[in-house]
Amino acid sequence: MPKLVLALFALVVSVGCAVPSTPFAVDYLVRPTDTGVSVVADVRGGPDVAWIGFGVGPGASPDRTTQVAGVRALDQNGVALPIEAAGHAGYRITTNGEPWQLTYELALDQAATADTFYRGSAQGNDYIVLVGSDAWPRLYDDPTPLTMAPDNRPAGVVAQATVRFYLPESNRDWTIATTAWSEGERVFAMREHPVASVFALGPFTIDELPNAPRLQIARHRDWDLLADDIEPLMATLVESHTSSLGPASQRRALAVLSPLPDRLPIRGGLRTAGMVRDQTLLVYAARSPGVDPKHPGIAEAMAVFLGHELFHLWVPSAVQVTRELSWLSEGWAMHMGRRAAVAAGHIDEDDREEHLSAAYRRYLDIGGYRAGSLPAASLGREDQRNLLYLRGELIFRLLEIEWNGIDSDKSFERALWRSLTTAYDGFEPLDARAIRQILVRLTDEVTVRRYVEGQAPLTPETLGLAGQ
Ligand SMILES: [Zn+2]
Repeated sequence: MPKLVLALFALVVSVGCAVPSTPFAVDYLVRPTDTGVSVVADVRGGPDVAWIGFGVGPGASPDRTTQVAGVRALDQNGVALPIEAAGHAGYRITTNGEPWQLTYELALDQAATADTFYRGSAQGNDYIVLVGSDAWPRLYDDPTPLTMAPDNRPAGVVAQATVRFYLPESNRDWTIATTAWSEGERVFAMREHPVASVFALGPFTIDELPNAPRLQIARHRDWDLLADDIEPLMATLVESHTSSLGPASQRRALAVLSPLPDRLPIRGGLRTAGMVRDQTLLVYAARSPGVDPKHPGIAEAMAVFLGHELFHLWVPSAVQVTRELSWLSEGWAMHMGRRAAVAAGHIDEDDREEHLSAAYRRYLDIGGYRAGSLPAASLGREDQRNLLYLRGELIFRLLEIEWNGIDSDKSFERALWRSLTTAYDGFEPLDARAIRQILVRLTDEVTVRRYVEGQAPLTPETLGLAGQ
């Protein structure tokens, strides 16, 4: 019996000590099609048996992986390699250790809600936005990650990747906007798996802001809001954030400005939407046809909106936070967006006070009095986002009032920013516990318990709105 145990032990050890394979290197070639993109990936490195899995960005529906179809693996002679489905949206591929090729189609359907923002139309002014977490497979040397949910998978063991694009002849004025490193026309390189990459393909004009040369602005041909005033406005908003907090990051950043997809109705005069993926801001906006493009309300709303979106280059891009802290990043972005709009001269301080009173009334209207913990609410349903943003902004105001000024610095946001950048190692996103410690230090235990953890209701008095 002891011999058998020893033999089993030796077997386990020999499996555990298998010679580590070289990491994967992947060169993607992407062709836009009528229904999305077709991808050919040349793969080198990796073990004799490779495990690949498609994923989605954090918080996205795991069903998005069903938009990937026709997954095939070929050897260097074009002969099909054995491939079996494994785990959730994953495959086991016997590669024999030689370079091989992976091919698949990614469907982007502009009529499907999940894809509304990634593909505008199928006409000449089309555009395609490829988000790395959804578009590129992750490659593994063991099957464990395939048992994890697609929105929770590690990036895999990719040491080097390039993406090349084949743009159709009919779209001669298409260009590619991305923060990835350009190695030549339409060829981009990344040092690791491009899970956080974004590539926007379409008729974009790319400019740099004079005061933020690392931030590129890619403007779609059909973007018409504020015309040539849009870039000076963005420069002023960036200036405001930089003077409050210091520079965002040494990394390259991109803001893609696209018209709102046609199928989205515009209620009121203006509709906007913004998304942040790593160092890329995807910004969409359109006005109702009946609204005068020079109406001051347009510039005011755009200043607040873009001030909010640009702030995300500080949090959560330059300082990453977990999703349970979306109340903090969004509430702070709301606060900073309005502040930057004041600095840009589009709203005055009185407007800010009125806005806060209005925000508080609206907060009560949509059921905000049912407190609860903000980190828990941050993990809640998508349709609760508005309430969370509003509540986050009010709480941010309250923390500012309660700030005890232990830092020699005079502003709360600067003291908070300094604490965040000190606590953040540039790699692991900050979690609710780390933030709790910081907030307790900047205010006190009771404030955090009452308002962040929701043990007491928000009142006009606590928000400094008494008498209004
Ligand atoms: Zn936001």
